[in-house]
Amino acid sequence: MPQNPVLANRQGMDHFLYRDGALYAEDVPVAEIAAAVGTPFYVYSTATLQRHFRLFDEALEGMDHLVCYAMKAASNQAILKTLTQAGAGMDVVSQGEYLRAKAAGVPGDKIVFSGVGKTAEEIRVALTGGIRQFNVESEPEMEVINAVALELGQVAPITIRVNPDVDAKTHAKIATGKSENKFGIPIARARDVYAHAASLKGLKVVGIDVHIGSQLTELEPFRQAYQKVAELTETLRADGHDIKRLDLGGGLGIPYTRSNEAPPLPVEYGQLIKETLGHLGCEIEIEPGRLIAGNAGLMVSKVIYVKSGEGRDFLIVDGAMNDLIRPAMYEAHHDIVAVQEPEAGIESRPYDIVGPVCETGDTFAKERNMPPLDAGDLIAFRSAGAYGAVMASEYNSRPLIPEVLVHGDQFAVIRPRPDYDEMINRDTIPEWL
Ligand SMILES: *Cc1c(COP(=O)(O)O)cnc(C)c1O
Repeated sequence: MPQNPVLANRQGMDHFLYRDGALYAEDVPVAEIAAAVGTPFYVYSTATLQRHFRLFDEALEGMDHLVCYAMKAASNQAILKTLTQAGAGMDVVSQGEYLRAKAAGVPGDKIVFSGVGKTAEEIRVALTGGIRQFNVESEPEMEVINAVALELGQVAPITIRVNPDVDAKTHAKIATGKSENKFGIPIARARDVYAHAASLKGLKVVGIDVHIGSQLTELEPFRQAYQKVAELTETLRADGHDIKRLDLGGGLGIPYTRSNEAPPLPVEYGQLIKETLGHLGCEIEIEPGRLIAGNAGLMVSKVIYVKSGEGRDFLIVDGAMNDLIRPAMYEAHHDIVAVQEPEAGIESRPYDIVGPVCETGDTFAKERNMPPLDAGDLIAFRSAGAYGAVMASEYNSRPLIPEVLVHGDQFAVIRPRPDYDEMINRDTIPEWL
């Protein structure tokens, strides 16, 4: 029976399921990928990426719109290409992301450039290569975009990111819409700043931008922010500005546990957008990152040792905080499952699941109930597709782990594991040594 996509999403459904006792990524056994590429590694599902993009695209049906994937969530070109072929634009926050999007075949007129600290060089590269719009975050930045555009004999399309001062009710490190955050201009100053923008010959104001945070699990903060944007649109239009595009940011949360979390669905989010902004006749852009990539990826790791401690057992695994930093950085929860499905009725036991890095923070889970596991067994961290591989580092001189993309019964390494020489030889020794 075909899965109801709405219900499926509510349940955190994806394409990583057990079949005949083994965890699969679409039609490929995860253990087969592990045998081919070694552990740890990231694996993404094409079908899940596509489905999540479609959920947003369909949620905005009936409105002129573009879903711009916030590629900072997971930026491998194979992922970008999958999404751009499905019809997505991109939201980029650096020159590197801009160039990566272009390399993956995303046309400039589908790329929006966000971020609080765009340099003149980054602005020049984007204007030269083609850009849909800059989302301006401050007046000094506006002046620089204007200057670079004039120098190139161009007119830069811009929106101005307003900070609506709403509480996104999310983790402090990823809340961006309160007045104390570094993002955007205070909405109360918007009229002045738009008037200033209109006076600059190198700029063309096309709309308004807002983004209030990430991993939002309620619609109410979005509603508050979008109502303020609706009011501002009317005010700015009355002032004579041509506000025809609204970039509403990203931030819709995902279920990180299979049991009790039920963040709003893209269709409900789309409904809210229509209710709060539909009457304005604007083109709508949204910038989801986490919801598209998060549940489309696993990090797969192997148990190195099972160590009995006082009152607890430790699973020491070959993945670590440098590979997946979310638990250490955001106190984030990831469901962790055995790649070999536990036999029915088998009793689970609590483990502390930790990596080999020399920091207590390198702890993925405490007293997590798991089936009995032994050295050599594979485990999978669910919901690791967003803010996983992109935040990895080589801390402890651990090479970046590979990324794999699955498509039906095929899989491909989309970023190989560097060998040790490659990593080490990046250092150069000064002559005096
Ligand atoms: C991070 C970010 C996003 C994406 O947020 P998600 O929570 O991943 O959807 C979108 N827009 C901007 C400006 C961002 O900084």
